[in-house]
Amino acid sequence: MKTMPAVLVVEDEPSIAELIAVNLRHNGFRPTWAMDSLSAQRELDASLPDLILLDWMLPGESGLSLAKRWRAHDRTKDVPIIMLTARGDEADRVAGLDAGADDYIAKPFSTKELLARVRAVLRRRLPEPKGEAIVIAGLSLDSSTHRVSFKDQALRLGPTEFKLLHYLMGHAERVHSRGQLLDKVWGDHVYIEERTVDVHVKRLREALGAAGAMVETVRGAGYRITAKPLVAIDTTDKAGAA
Ligand code: CA
Repeated sequence: MKTMPAVLVVEDEPSIAELIAVNLRHNGFRPTWAMDSLSAQRELDASLPDLILLDWMLPGESGLSLAKRWRAHDRTKDVPIIMLTARGDEADRVAGLDAGADDYIAKPFSTKELLARVRAVLRRRLPEPKGEAIVIAGLSLDSSTHRVSFKDQALRLGPTEFKLLHYLMGHAERVHSRGQLLDKVWGDHVYIEERTVDVHVKRLREALGAAGAMVETVRGAGYRITAKPLVAIDTTDKAGAA
């Protein structure tokens, strides 16, 4: 469906919300505005947007807490979230990404930057054209159904972790630098720091559970996925290595 993407703007400051909405509208998006967590939840219950722009500091429940909650719910877990916030330091940025945000914009931001990031996040989330399963040492990823499993046990991955795993599995055993991963997985990395890759690799390993050891850090070089990790995989039977 190539309709105008719907963007839910959760922002308690009307002037900022208005600025964002006007710019989104002029650039082919359909913005909806919610000024607090309750109305945001109401909007989500009514219909799922293609993306959420979520202010961190909101009256009542914070944006960070909302992001965590939406990530934990089946219905909302795949909707990309970009956090908006006046907080600019590293710890806050990582907390936002750890809460499940796909990206992070510090206020004050230019509308050009905002639009670039919105487009980049939406582009990342486009479905992959080909749809066959890749299997490596019992870890299976099916890009047509977006399912990942390890030894037939379904695993839950966020959209960015899925894309990252998809890329790594499609190029198994090879080492990829953070810069290469940003290029291939994030696509438009103008505004994304290399540290973002580390955050998502950490989340990917956690999501993979017992298979997490397959995602190896190659010191000074980057990351790779391997069928024969240095740290043993917790496996009792020998699932066929691809
Ligand atoms: Ca605010």
